[in-house]
Amino acid sequence: MEQIYTIPVNEAFEAGMEDPTRGCPFCRLRDKLAKEEVDRVLGASMMEPDTRQQTNVHGFCGHHLEQLTAAGKRLPLALILESHLIEIGNAMKKPGVLPAAAGGDTAKKLDGISRDCYICSRIDFHFQHMLETAALLWEGDTAFHKKCLSQPYFCLPHFAEFLQAARARMKGKDFGAFYKQLYEKESAFLEKLGGDVSWFVKKFDYRYADEPWNDAKDSIERASAFLNGNEGAL
Ligand SMILES: [Zn+2]
Ligand SMILES: [Zn+2]
Repeated sequence: MEQIYTIPVNEAFEAGMEDPTRGCPFCRLRDKLAKEEVDRVLGASMMEPDTRQQTNVHGFCGHHLEQLTAAGKRLPLALILESHLIEIGNAMKKPGVLPAAAGGDTAKKLDGISRDCYICSRIDFHFQHMLETAALLWEGDTAFHKKCLSQPYFCLPHFAEFLQAARARMKGKDFGAFYKQLYEKESAFLEKLGGDVSWFVKKFDYRYADEPWNDAKDSIERASAFLNGNEGAL
């Protein structure tokens, strides 16, 4: 288990224990990775040929281009975009013996570039290690059980990814015990959330108009954060 991952994973889980409003700890880890990548891309590595070669080829998704723009380092960003646009121009110019076939290849290539993101792929790489690290921490450090079980919730995409990483990395009997406890925790959260959304619906029925809202008022926002994660929300 690599220290570069155990420290941030432990920190994110400890922060989630102390402040439940932080939501899913894996969303916070991805936020941290995104911030580090944005800083790195616009910092010294901007001039490193290896990184530039990669950003030229892969480009950025809309979400991360927004983050790069919001970082306020407009000149380094403009230089990166300048060479990325040249790369796209080169991809578009591809001449072919058979124009129709060449056009099809170009479309495929451009479609690939438009869906690609240098920052997403870097985050995915590190995040996969963090998921595996969390699974190994559970297996090797009983103090981590409490940290896991004290999180407010895991968002659905990260709950699924955490289970997959644990299934791949843990011994069968450890995974069984892990899944049982995580399942109990997550299903209790789901039941409460579902109840809050149902109460929200009931409040639109005149018979319940004078009843208190309880926890229903922000249940749609909380359901959305659970279903899709809330990266970038804090
Ligand atoms: Zn999450
Ligand atoms: Zn991206």
